This record gives sequence, structure tokens and C-alpha cells, in this order.
Amino acid sequence: MTQYLTTRQLESQAWKLYFVAMAWPIYVLVLPVAWSKLGMYALLFIIFPGTCLFTWMACLMHECWHKYVPNVPNRFFYQLFSYMLVTDPQLYRLVHGHHHSKVNTWDDTEFHPLGRIKNTFLRRVYNFCEILFGVALTFSIQMNVLPRHPRYKDKYKTGKAAGSVIMWLVIYACLIYASSSLFGVAASDIALSYTINFWLCSVMIHHVQLVPHGNLIVEGDWNVRNMKSRNLKNDTLPQKLFHFLTHGDTREHVLHHTHVAEHARPFPGKVPLPTDAVYISLHDYAHVLWDMVIKG
Ligand SMILES: [Zn+2]
Ligand SMILES: [Zn+2]
Repeated sequence: MTQYLTTRQLESQAWKLYFVAMAWPIYVLVLPVAWSKLGMYALLFIIFPGTCLFTWMACLMHECWHKYVPNVPNRFFYQLFSYMLVTDPQLYRLVHGHHHSKVNTWDDTEFHPLGRIKNTFLRRVYNFCEILFGVALTFSIQMNVLPRHPRYKDKYKTGKAAGSVIMWLVIYACLIYASSSLFGVAASDIALSYTINFWLCSVMIHHVQLVPHGNLIVEGDWNVRNMKSRNLKNDTLPQKLFHFLTHGDTREHVLHHTHVAEHARPFPGKVPLPTDAVYISLHDYAHVLWDMVIKG
């Protein structure tokens, strides 16, 4: 099998994990003071660098799951990024393998933790909430579903979930305490800026997931289902901006399924895309979202 990327290229990615592990806490530390000084203009600061760092952290956590970068402590970064993303590391550890084996089916627990909701109205409501709240909704549902799910319940550990909650509290309580001590920002500025920040970040990272897989249920074997994963074009300024803010995860996403052994995301153009790969524009994606809410 052709290997498209060299070990040297993969190792060149290591700095990103160290950089993001430091940059996110610094961003969270200064966010409340930016909010108090800039007012609504701070929304721009939340979009960049805020959502950009958050989606980066999520991409890197995913890549630690795959152990794509050989010269970093993948397990350490996987755990750290999970906690900073306010998720329980065991959730993604359990479900991501099924995103690959069950991709574009209702059995993909990462995307459809409730499976297919039979009632059309409830399915529309669920889809609307998913678009409105983003990945926070699917993470929360996974936390409730996995302990009872026949595929995962024996592996799911309540103690690990409790440990994750403690880690979230420790990390963010320390950052909030440091922020208020250093800058003397009002509690209301901290609460409001953090709420908007995590909401926007949650929505943004979920769009990265919905572009390739949202409302996409495919009949067929693994190869057929992999091939239908959508890729966002890179023609227009808004599309390029989306790729910039989300680190190109949707640009050649089909490769993550057809060439899962290759760490293709940081190297667009290096691994050839299948000839019948599916490309969509942001306009097409708007139709996907519309159908999720209107048709269910
Ligand atoms: Zn993956
Ligand atoms: Zn995928």
C-alpha cells in the first residue's frame, strides 16, 4: 500500500500539540478582560482565536486517538485536550472507532447517540437542537446513553466520568481564579464571556462534523459508505475562511475514511482524493441544515 507521508512530515506536526496546550489556557485567561474592555467586539476575539483554537484542540485530540504524530505523548495530550474541551475522554475513546466502522449509518454512536429517532417531529426538534447547541448536546447525550448502551456499558466507567467532572472544575476554576485575580474582572463578565465562548465553540466544532456527515445515511458496504462522506470545496472566500478557522478538517474529509492510516488533514493535496469524491459548497451545506430541520 502506498504511503504518502513520511515520518519526518508527521513528526513536523508535534509543535502544534504543545502550542495549543498552552495557547488555549492563555486565551481563556484573557477572555474575560477582553470582554470587559471590548464589549460586543469581543465576539470577534471569540471567533478568532477562540473558536479557531477550540476546533484545533478537537482535531488534535482526534489525531491523538489515532496516534498520528509519532513523537508526542499521545495519551497525555488526548486526556488533556479532552478535559479542556469539557468532555470525558472515555466517551470519544469508546465511540470513535464506530464512527469509522459504522460511518454514515444510524449505528454511528458518535454522530447519532440516540440512533434513529422514529418520530419525525422529535427528529426535527433533535436536529434543530443539535445545530443550535452543537457538540455539547451530543457529548451530553453520550454521557447518558453509553452507560446503558449494550455495545459500551461493560467498558463505560462511572468513576472515570466523575474524575472528568473534577478535572473540568479544577482546570476552569483555576483559570477563572487566575483571571479574576490578575485582571479584577467582574464575575458577570467572566460568566457571560465564558458562556458565549463555549456555546460558539461547541457550535463551530459541530459544523465541522456536520459538513461531511450531517443527515447522511447511506446504504451499502463500508467502502460505499466511506466514499459518500462530503468534502467542502475550497473555491470561495467564505469556504477558505471556514477551512482556516477549522484547520481544513472538512476539506478532504473523505480521505480520513478511505485512507484512515494517513494523517492527511494537515497536508491537503498530498494524498489523492478518490475520483468520485463528493464535494459541496457552503450553499449546499445550508440545504443540508435546512433539510435536517424541515424534513427531519
Ligand atoms: Zn478518526
Ligand atoms: Zn468522519
